[in-house]
Amino acid sequence: MTDWTVHKFGGTSLADAGRYARAADLVREAGDGPVAVVVSAPAGITDAFLEAVALAARRDPHYRQALHDIRDRIVALAGKLLGEEASPLIEVVESNALDLEDVLRGVELTGTAPEQTGELVSGFGEVWSAQMLRAHLATTGTPDAEWLDARAVLVVERTASGPLVHWEKTGERLAKWQRENPSQTVVVTGYVASDEAGVATSLQRNGSDYTASIFGRLLDASSITIWTDVEGVMSADPRLVPEAVLLPYLSYDEAAELAYFGARVLHPHTMAPAITADIPVRIRDAGHPDRVGTLLASAPPAELDDERATAVKGFSSSADVALLNIEGLGLMGVPGVAQRLFGALRDVGVSVAMISQAGSEHSICAAIPLGQAERARSAVEHAFHAELHYGKVQTIDVGGPYRILAAVGDRMEQTPGVAARFFGALGSANINVRAIAQGSSERNISAVVDAKDSARALRAVHSGFYLSDRTLSIGLLGPGRIGSELLRQIAAGARTLHERFQIDLRVRGIMRSSSMLLDERGIDLGRWEDLMARDGEPADLDRFVAHVDADHIPHAVVVDCTASEEFNDIYPKWLDEGVHVVTANKHATSSSLDLYRRIREPRRSRRAHYLGSATVGAGLPVVRTLQDLVRTGDRVHRIEGVLSGTLSYLFNGLSIETPFSSMVAEAFRRGYTEPDPREDLTGMDVVRKALILGREMGLELEPSDVSVESLVPEALRNADTAPEAFLDRLADHDGEIQARLNAAAREGGVLRYVARVEESGAAVELRTFPSHHPFANVSGADAIVAFTTERYNPQPLIIQGPGAGPEVTAGGVFADLLRLAGLLGGSTPNV
Ligand code: ADP
Ligand code: ASP
Ligand code: MG
Repeated sequence: MTDWTVHKFGGTSLADAGRYARAADLVREAGDGPVAVVVSAPAGITDAFLEAVALAARRDPHYRQALHDIRDRIVALAGKLLGEEASPLIEVVESNALDLEDVLRGVELTGTAPEQTGELVSGFGEVWSAQMLRAHLATTGTPDAEWLDARAVLVVERTASGPLVHWEKTGERLAKWQRENPSQTVVVTGYVASDEAGVATSLQRNGSDYTASIFGRLLDASSITIWTDVEGVMSADPRLVPEAVLLPYLSYDEAAELAYFGARVLHPHTMAPAITADIPVRIRDAGHPDRVGTLLASAPPAELDDERATAVKGFSSSADVALLNIEGLGLMGVPGVAQRLFGALRDVGVSVAMISQAGSEHSICAAIPLGQAERARSAVEHAFHAELHYGKVQTIDVGGPYRILAAVGDRMEQTPGVAARFFGALGSANINVRAIAQGSSERNISAVVDAKDSARALRAVHSGFYLSDRTLSIGLLGPGRIGSELLRQIAAGARTLHERFQIDLRVRGIMRSSSMLLDERGIDLGRWEDLMARDGEPADLDRFVAHVDADHIPHAVVVDCTASEEFNDIYPKWLDEGVHVVTANKHATSSSLDLYRRIREPRRSRRAHYLGSATVGAGLPVVRTLQDLVRTGDRVHRIEGVLSGTLSYLFNGLSIETPFSSMVAEAFRRGYTEPDPREDLTGMDVVRKALILGREMGLELEPSDVSVESLVPEALRNADTAPEAFLDRLADHDGEIQARLNAAAREGGVLRYVARVEESGAAVELRTFPSHHPFANVSGADAIVAFTTERYNPQPLIIQGPGAGPEVTAGGVFADLLRLAGLLGGSTPNV
């Protein structure tokens, strides 16, 4: 091992001048030893070159413009990065571009582009990129930086399984180059190479990773660092699976399996030279160099407890494939069938990504690149011509597009239940599996699924292994006083809940009447208001719910903290669709009995829960206590109580000196009432709570069955009067209530506005209670409820305490969310 280190920068990490400068800084911070810096082309350049070649091959004259665009982008980048020092590079680029135009003109004239032409042309992205970074390093404190054109050194042989390095020849050339250029900072072109005849070629897409690994081995480097645009290798492609987590350590084998099936962050060949030379490879985020990233090595470092890692580490999904299926009774027990099949495919250059054969040998199925499907079919038909003719082979068919979904992990082998979890997750996401394979290394399980389902399938299997069964995707309706308090409480408790109880609460959507905020992974609750102002979009309930009810998160819940009636009829629909409902909103369960039944009655088809503890008594366990009584077989005779915190406050403060109207004005001023205090004074809020309690106790009550005494004087019921005007005029009517107060006082009692629900009927009214009665001894905005039942008789069961206000109400909703998580199983989160 030498003290060389290799650093590779991908195209995404070299997309603009700022990123070149950042790369140079990272190289300088890399340490004291000599550094080889392997660079990709700036993001998008390789694609743009290949597109220009394709245009020329189709004789589309726009190839010129395409080429000029590439040139102009590089020239602009050089100007920005290098300033006055840019001219030598710009001259080179312009002169190369003229040559390339000639090459493309040739392609246009012949109307065809051999593969070599594409490789030659597209390699210029890296050739320019290396010169760009070298020039920048040279002008910013590393004057001896050199660039190495890998085409002059790296010799490869093109084979069906990709380019193979001629190590000896390449080693000699590199040694010679180093003697002539004894620099300690060498910028190497990624991706490009030469074949044995000296013709420019490439290491194929994403080949710069391979370059880094090759040079690591050639230089006998002590480490290779791949700088890219993700934190490291994640448990799945983070663009497809937002929940993906960083994998701190991967064995070489795990990395190779993941890469093979399409984790673009690693090129499949990348590993080989590094493995042979046992060089540790780090994948790191160029945008966040403070993060450690992923280590690939032959053994985990001591500080990482890889034993604790999950059995399955990563998931990937391949590019599109076709499945070739050959089926026939005549294949059973006949030796050599597989050999003939794969021989035929090999002869026409079709590579097979996956094979599966049932034990009966009745059929064999192979996954092949989609683009080679027809070629494969005719080759196989040809090879089995006779069997087809004599009916020994019934069908040879090719279908697609499909994708191979793979789960990878070294320790799968020792862990039972992995396959069950994998296929279970696919099953519950309703994804059809076309073929299955598990290598005998048991490091990989693969399933072939329809291409259109592949992203969903990837998310489903990923959450099957990585998300706790108690992960809730939460959509909050109405971030008003209660809603925003709830968000604050969730933010404060989330971490402990996750760590100690594996309850993972993710608020993925917040919606108010005009706008909504959605986030894949979960909204940052510390600054949701800013985010909503910045990234909010127009409110759209259907989209909101579809987002919250994401396939890949085990459970979805809509939390209704609005005071609106607009969602009443939608609750049953959400519940039928499997979306849980947690609510502080009384409207739905207190409107018609029919709607109540559709929400509350258990149905076999229903997979979702409704929880509405906070609809009566806010955080007090009123509804829950009632439900427990009913479920345990007690008979509830009567429920009576002060159910409105607002009205409780009014009557607790009422006295000879403080008339009713001034209490109402005071409550209004303190924000204890609805914006229009008449909504409290009509008693409707209490009627709603009485209905909910009555129905929970088993009574078939319609709203019209509850008699109600309104505290709004007849003369002031005209809704056109503004709240302030109403308050002014209320004083004229103080006499009525004052008279009742006096009457009560004469008997030594007090006035309370109460609900009473029993089998014989329900009423909401102002009543007198003697001073020793529990209802007489409430204070502030307390609620109090007394349950008289078969068991609690004659002494009722009493629940008393603060029954209104954002904190206790939000606390009640939060408790329902946790209760919901508790109802949703809670098996161990990881196999
Ligand atoms: P670079 O330009 O640095 O070579 P690439 O775009 O080639 O970067 O590779 C990085 C990308 O690989 C990431 O942005 C990510 O979308 C994708 N990717 C696919 N699978 C994974 C995975 N398991 N972990 C991390 N990234 C992955
Ligand atoms: N520029 C090449 C590509 O985009 C090689 C690489 O970036 O690794 O495929
Ligand atoms: Mg790449």
